Amino acid sequence: MKKRIIIVGGGFGGITAMHALKKHIGHKAEVVLIDYRTDTLNKPRLPEVAIKGESVEHARFLMKNAVKQDGYVLIQETVIKIDPKAKKVYLKEGGIETYDYLILSPGVKKFYDGIEGFKEYAYSVCDDIQAPRLWRKLQEFEGGPIYIGSMPYKSGTRIPAPKLLAPCEGPVGEVMFMLREFLSKKGILDNSSITAFSPAKIFFEDVGDKVRNDVGAIMKKEGIALITDKVVAKIDAQKIYFQDGTSEDCALAIVLPEYKPHAFISEAGLSDEAGFIPTDRQMRHLDYPEIFATGDATALSVPKLGHIAVIQGDIAAKAIANELLEKKIEIPEFKPAVLCIMERENMQATMIYSDVLYGGKLDETIDNSLAYGMKWSFDFYYNFTRGHMPPDFAEKLLVSYLNKRKKD
Ligand SMILES: Cc1cc2nc3c(=O)[nH]c(=O)nc-3n(C[C@H](O)[C@H](O)[C@H](O)COP(=O)(O)OP(=O)(O)OC[C@H]3O[C@@H](n4cnc5c(N)ncnc54)[C@H](O)[C@@H]3O)c2cc1C
Repeated sequence: MKKRIIIVGGGFGGITAMHALKKHIGHKAEVVLIDYRTDTLNKPRLPEVAIKGESVEHARFLMKNAVKQDGYVLIQETVIKIDPKAKKVYLKEGGIETYDYLILSPGVKKFYDGIEGFKEYAYSVCDDIQAPRLWRKLQEFEGGPIYIGSMPYKSGTRIPAPKLLAPCEGPVGEVMFMLREFLSKKGILDNSSITAFSPAKIFFEDVGDKVRNDVGAIMKKEGIALITDKVVAKIDAQKIYFQDGTSEDCALAIVLPEYKPHAFISEAGLSDEAGFIPTDRQMRHLDYPEIFATGDATALSVPKLGHIAVIQGDIAAKAIANELLEKKIEIPEFKPAVLCIMERENMQATMIYSDVLYGGKLDETIDNSLAYGMKWSFDFYYNFTRGHMPPDFAEKLLVSYLNKRKKD
């Protein structure tokens, strides 16, 4: 009988794993994707929705089309419980699905409720409800001090992974640069200020000094201020309050909330003490060899990046394929990098590529319209192909260009 592989979550990690399974095992196994959403959300596209007023439809594609393309099965449902010993997944409406292999890729919950005053007074860009809400707010915004930053990341200790205090500051960078353009176009830049805040002592602690200095120089040029070691305690109509007892006048607060792991993972005994899934570097669960995990839900995903989720999805699918196929395929080494493209004014963007956090030596910034073109091409490719990544050689080309530039 065919083995049954269940993937929970059709975001960056889950969709990549599904397409990779199609490529390597085709229909030698039964593959089922479970997700309660009808569409896959390309979150890196959300700042354009929030600050440029793009249609949210540019940031998502129908999940059923991606699954149909591979000839697999989609169950549009919420997973509420997993019994890893019985190899069963329980669904909200009462269904029970059994598996031989399970790939967990449910991302994380954005814990807006963890910030006092968020619902009434603060904004975010992290999902397809918050991003259009911020765009509506910006229509009536008449200027004033703007604060943008993230809540801290609480990681576990079961596997060795880099320790960061911010889950990912790329979105903060994207939003601050794009906001500047928005304020300038609206003619309210002079009576506004933008301040980025970080829960860490260093903003962009996940990159090396070179990239950090490059980003710092652009912020300085654009008049964007920075405060570090700041964790939001509360927000009201006039002020933003930090846990160190300080507060600032604030006309608009934009916050990336705490990344909270899903309770069904820890309730199943599948998480570390912080709620994230501990895996080896082939994305296999440390305690259950038939369970794999990818993306933001894993302890190994640091910082929380789609780029890392994709690398992990590919590795997990290949590791499973190797157990099902007679002819073995190569499983790539888990060698992540921070890759983020922050859009700026006049079709410019700042692309950062850094593997310093993982012991590498590449730490480069591209700051021009080429970076803008790369972001646009990636978004188009990802949506048009329903979740496929540009061919491997595109990143190899980028890395060899950055290495050459570094030497020159
Ligand atoms: C504004 C913003 C900008 C970003 N920019 C970048 C960038 O430039 N570069 C980059 O690399 N990363 C970026 N990221 C991070 C990136 O979006 C995430 O790291 C990535 O989405 C994680 O992928 P994932 O598959 O783990 O989870 P997700 O993409 O969150 O997908 C999880 C899926 O699981 C489903 N799910 C959850 N719970 C259940 C359940 N109980 N039952 C069934 N289904 C469930 C959800 O519906 C969802 O479809 C950005 C993030 C944000 C918010």
